[in-house]
Amino acid sequence: MSQLKTYSELSRLRTLEERFNYLKLNGIPTNPTFGGRRLLNQTFYQSPEWRRVRRDVILRDAGCEMGLEPFEIPGVVYIHHLNPITYEDILQRDQKLLDPENLICVSFDMHEAIHYSNSEILKMYKLVPRTPNDTCPWK
Ligand SMILES: [Zn+2]
Repeated sequence: MSQLKTYSELSRLRTLEERFNYLKLNGIPTNPTFGGRRLLNQTFYQSPEWRRVRRDVILRDAGCEMGLEPFEIPGVVYIHHLNPITYEDILQRDQKLLDPENLICVSFDMHEAIHYSNSEILKMYKLVPRTPNDTCPWK
């Protein structure tokens, strides 16, 4: 098994590319959500504890892609578990479900890319020109 990933380590990396390479899962199969398991997932993601931690992580990361300014996520913010959670983790309310050290803000596309190790997404960012006002507005 690979070494545990942490937000503290991730936050020391200063480019999207480095952060992506740190986070990507290299096709490790993770948390399939089907049947009764999907229901359990939904229950977890609707719980007050999850909503509170989610809000805290979005504030910490200023709503930015992999927590890196100034790459503010334009649409829905997804919260990715650095060390993917399993069905058993949810059943047992494992600490890593709600530990901010195990959580990071990502866009939908980046989330897919992390899970399926598709580095094509980084090209998207290189095509976007940086502007002087291109920062997270609340930082
Ligand atoms: Zn994820």
